[in-house]
Amino acid sequence: MNAAVDATQVAALAEAAADGIEFDGFAVETEGDGYVLATDAGSKRVVHADDLNDAAAEYAPYLTNWYFWHATAPQAEDRWAYLRWLERADDERVPDRYDALAAGVTREWGQLRVTVTADETGARRYELRHVDDADTDAADLTAHDDPLDARRIAKHDDRDRYRPLKTAPTLRTGWRFADLGPAEAVRAVESFYPATVTNWYREREGELDISHWRETVDRQSGIYGVVKTWDRGDGYEHVNWVAEACCDDSQCLKRREWQYDDGTDLDVGGGDGEFPCREPCSVVISAARRWTKLEGEQSRTYEFELTPSEKEQVEAVVDAVADGRTDEIREADVYEGANRYRARFLRAKRFDDEGNLSGVPTDPADDGGSEADAADGGADADEETEEASD
Ligand code: SF4
Repeated sequence: MNAAVDATQVAALAEAAADGIEFDGFAVETEGDGYVLATDAGSKRVVHADDLNDAAAEYAPYLTNWYFWHATAPQAEDRWAYLRWLERADDERVPDRYDALAAGVTREWGQLRVTVTADETGARRYELRHVDDADTDAADLTAHDDPLDARRIAKHDDRDRYRPLKTAPTLRTGWRFADLGPAEAVRAVESFYPATVTNWYREREGELDISHWRETVDRQSGIYGVVKTWDRGDGYEHVNWVAEACCDDSQCLKRREWQYDDGTDLDVGGGDGEFPCREPCSVVISAARRWTKLEGEQSRTYEFELTPSEKEQVEAVVDAVADGRTDEIREADVYEGANRYRARFLRAKRFDDEGNLSGVPTDPADDGGSEADAADGGADADEETEEASD
């Protein structure tokens, strides 16, 4: 790229040189009535003040790069670091980076695809779209220019279902922010994935304040206070199940950093997400409230009449629901246990008129519902789930 400097950039350089500049392989300092300019490529030039314009043009990529990062980019440390990460500023020297930026440098952040470009003045522009729309013609995507539109886009998935967990891998496709400035780009990213830039930065700086399961649960009050009673000093296996159910990469794009407590790691992995999760979110706590009640029940022994294939079919149905695959199972695919016709056949054959599997009542004395249902007043966890934003 042929970078070009303007008078504002040269004036800023002259002013900053008094204190000395050392940034991204570019060094400038004053010497007598002039300046010394040098780069990490070994170039060095001593110029009189009157010749600074000419010298600046010679060092244009370095100068415009310095100017962008000190006069144009947001100066908040987390935003600044994030924008530099986007263009791999810490990995590439300025001339190579400028060549890459001329074509566009792309990074993924959750399901966002962010592409940075720079023009000859060093000004960066940012394009955001869904990773699944990487190859979609721009004309086929809905154009947006207000970064806050991201909040609306993030509210529902492609099937118009509400997304209580903003970091679930269910972000809607079909949109594009074509031309955002640096501050707008970060605002859009944070609107899609609240607090992810801040927590990513805190983690890089070794300052991520993690609130583990025990601390978070101990803080719960009101209708969520019941979750405290789930920890009965019997170990943390139940928290492994929670993490496996909710925090797996297939369900949430954050990398879970919280554990059972400060000295007890969970046995399931935290995932590979780019940005960390610092505490159990409201979606998890809401689900845990329900599990606290369900797990208060004692196991019982039931005797069911099932063929081996029917037992496997029950397992296949649970797997398909847990993995969110039910929509992918074709009606014609009767070899799949979770196929709708197969499930309907099993119900027709094995359920009695009250909906009991193999005619076995849930409670031998009274089959009108589980103890947990009665204790819970039949509350729907969805109604209580708040949006998980941090
Ligand atoms: S607790 Fe964190 S990792 Fe788990 S689902 Fe919630 S936001 Fe995702």
